[in-house]
Amino acid sequence: MVNLKNNRTEKMETINVGIFGHIDHGKTTLLHKLTGVWASRYTEELKRGITIKLGYADVVLYNDNGEFNTQGKGEAVRHISFVDSPGHEMLMATMMSGAALIDVAILLVSAIEGIKPQTREHLMALQAKKIKNIIIVQNKIDLVDKDKAKKNYEDIKEFLKGKCDAPIIPVSAQQGVNVQEIWKALIGMEIPERDTKSEPVFLIARSFDINRPGTTPKDLHGAVLGGSLKRGILRVGDIIEIKPGRLVKEANQYRFEKLKCKIENLFKGSKKTDNLTPGGSMSIETSLDMALGKSDLLAGNVVSLEGKLPEITTHLKINYNLFPQVYGVSGEAKVENLKISETLMLSVNTSITAGIVRSLKNNVLEVELKMPIVAFKGDNIGIARNINAHWRLIGYGEIV
Ligand code: GDP
Ligand code: MG
Repeated sequence: MVNLKNNRTEKMETINVGIFGHIDHGKTTLLHKLTGVWASRYTEELKRGITIKLGYADVVLYNDNGEFNTQGKGEAVRHISFVDSPGHEMLMATMMSGAALIDVAILLVSAIEGIKPQTREHLMALQAKKIKNIIIVQNKIDLVDKDKAKKNYEDIKEFLKGKCDAPIIPVSAQQGVNVQEIWKALIGMEIPERDTKSEPVFLIARSFDINRPGTTPKDLHGAVLGGSLKRGILRVGDIIEIKPGRLVKEANQYRFEKLKCKIENLFKGSKKTDNLTPGGSMSIETSLDMALGKSDLLAGNVVSLEGKLPEITTHLKINYNLFPQVYGVSGEAKVENLKISETLMLSVNTSITAGIVRSLKNNVLEVELKMPIVAFKGDNIGIARNINAHWRLIGYGEIV
């Protein structure tokens, strides 16, 4: 985990890096090579050999006379939080929530398989989420000869044309070839300006109960919220509000009730801290009943100080754009126009919600949501449609 050699690392900038790409192109292997952490921690993932949930790993990067390492040699230069995302076509929504947390994206393309549907769909999702810092990793170069590697490189360049001008780094994640180049590219990325003046907005990507069975009541910890602080500052002792909150049933009607609690502890990566500023993977230990945090129950919720979040809403107005084609399926499929009454899947920050199209005017779409969300004006949205029983990204938009 985070190796803190001296106090200077406290003040170091943190960037959040997401790893994306088609299934089996080597995301989890690359993350392991970069950080020493195997992000597959769930039995189901290990059994099936695929990433289902978002995986996390934090490292401090050191510069030892131009050679980067995570072993503490040389000068500590950057704190990096990685998010590993699933590349399976059915898990696009999870991939989108991962994209909501990051500053920089690494998109993997296997040199053997080349551009596949989720390579295209993930690149479009990153564009929908307005992520400008992208590094393309051409992986598995140990498995191809020079000509094939070159041809694949040219294909990737062609694919990127007009979409983004990301660097392409040939790598073998498994053999650890050229990994230095990835560190160099990451260090070269501009750190986004962090806003610590606004009211805090913390996006919850996961939540858990960290108590071991048999813990005595006085030693019990409250629910823990994992995610990323988008703006503002959070401090231990702050009274926070979580929205939409908890689903309650009242007189045979369901409604969401916001949760109010105290911040008991804060963690940046795995290190305890007394305040959080934007940048990196973080978690908040709250005074909430631990059961409320279980199995990601609060994922998709938003946290701020008491009274500082907008009202939850089931109605959104979106300025939208549709892609010319459905990128997430093999072959060419045109994106048909939106229709009144059709159901879309919308991803807003770390939340995913189904919405029914109620009105369409020029480029403005109004949807009625099945579940309420916290929406901020200007938030970007991924728009997906159910095509052959899978949610496929067909466009993007912005809340107006
Ligand atoms: P993911 O689905 O994108 O997370 O892919 P994984 O990291 O699980 O890798 C899929 C398979 O490809 C595994 O068997 C890896 O060992 C293998 N693999 C990943 N990177 C490389 C590489 O650079 N070279 C070779 N030969 N195999 C690789
Ligand atoms: Mg994986």
